[in-house]
Amino acid sequence: MEYRIVKIIQEALNVRRFILQAEMPFQCAFSPGQFVVLQSNLKEQGVVQRSYSISSVEPNMQTIELCISLNPAGVFTPWLFEQHVDFWIVGSEPQGSFVFQPTGNNIPYVFICTGTGVAPFRSMINEALKINGASVYLIFGNRLAEDILYHEDWKQLAQQNENFHYHPVLSRQEQSFAHYGYVHPVYTKILEKVDDAQIYVCGWKDMLVETRRNLKSMGFNRRQYHFEQYD
Ligand SMILES: Cc1cc2nc3c(=O)[nH]c(=O)nc-3n(C[C@H](O)[C@H](O)[C@H](O)COP(=O)(O)OP(=O)(O)OC[C@H]3O[C@@H](n4cnc5c(N)ncnc54)[C@H](O)[C@@H]3O)c2cc1C
Repeated sequence: MEYRIVKIIQEALNVRRFILQAEMPFQCAFSPGQFVVLQSNLKEQGVVQRSYSISSVEPNMQTIELCISLNPAGVFTPWLFEQHVDFWIVGSEPQGSFVFQPTGNNIPYVFICTGTGVAPFRSMINEALKINGASVYLIFGNRLAEDILYHEDWKQLAQQNENFHYHPVLSRQEQSFAHYGYVHPVYTKILEKVDDAQIYVCGWKDMLVETRRNLKSMGFNRRQYHFEQYD
């Protein structure tokens, strides 16, 4: 199937939000957490495919949003960042099993990510906050304040909903509103107080490997944590 780019928003220095509309008669319904695979036939590399989590908040039948980081040395994203509104791009239907699974009312739902790993959490957190009595935590690591994706949206959500706890973490800049360092001590402090939790982790391999190791050593098991690895 094909998607038409209907809007592009510069979200951070090297990150853009692409709003895509599916060609008729397809619809863009998805389960919170799923991704699509985009494809292009590039001159040197031939057909190249890359996966992107859907960053829309609501499963909307008309459009999906993707939040994509430019890798200047990469194959696909330099090409994608040259495309404009009204360009048609080949892509898959939403797919993937890293989807939000409500399992209990009075447990914490903890979302841990860095960079564009936050993309699938937009719709997953929206779903988690519908669960009666659930506390929902977002631990979101970035280097600098200017890198934080959807920062205003997260702040607003935390103001509007007392069950949502937003923990931005910055590794290269001290700011009064954020933790300084890496995500690991931040989720460890939250999780060491609880026996049960549902934990979702998304992003690049290094962060995932360390998080998995920490969660295991804290006694959490495979039914309690869920991973989506970007590389
Ligand atoms: C299920 C899934 C969902 C994904 N969702 C997103 C998403 O929502 N947004 C998004 O931007 N990407 C996402 N990705 C990553 C995406 O598929 C591509 O890998 C990425 O866009 C780089 O593609 P490229 O062709 O430009 O670079 P490549 O030529 O594939 O990259 C070359 C190398 O750079 C590494 N690399 C690329 N970008 C980064 C980075 N930012 N940080 C660290 N290492 C990097 C790659 O691991 C690779 O080794 C997802 C991947 C998967 C598997």
